[in-house]
Amino acid sequence: MDYFEHNKFGRTFALRLDKGEDILGSLNNLIEKENIKDGVVVSGVGTLDRCALHFVTHLEDASKMYYREWKDQPLEVASIQGIIADSMPHIHAVVSDQNAAWGGHVELGCRTLYLCEMLIVEMPGFNLTRVSKNDDINSTDNFVKNLVKKANI
Ligand SMILES: [Zn+2]
Repeated sequence: MDYFEHNKFGRTFALRLDKGEDILGSLNNLIEKENIKDGVVVSGVGTLDRCALHFVTHLEDASKMYYREWKDQPLEVASIQGIIADSMPHIHAVVSDQNAAWGGHVELGCRTLYLCEMLIVEMPGFNLTRVSKNDDINSTDNFVKNLVKKANI
């Protein structure tokens, strides 16, 4: 286990997303526009009509993921939360319909149906960076980092 202490909170952003706006794409736009280096997504709720999440599926290989997409289907967003490190967001969500709930890693393609709201708190000077602890290209760290890089729009 590693941990890193920081005691300074900076700006707080309330992000409102309207119909058709992408959760991760909009968060990336906010991070770029406001030059947010490190922070935390402390809350997020709303509704979606499209959603894309991925889940780990193997105990030994973090690169093998299960991707699930919902298209033109109303979903509630029960929760969004995550961490922004070195301007790269890593966020997870729990979404549900009338019968079930799913939680996973948020990909591009989570599109607002009616409204989504998120609260982001900046942590200036924290200087977080995600680095792999091994050279395994398939490590979770590398995979998430690569996914986040691909997701930048
Ligand atoms: Zn994740």
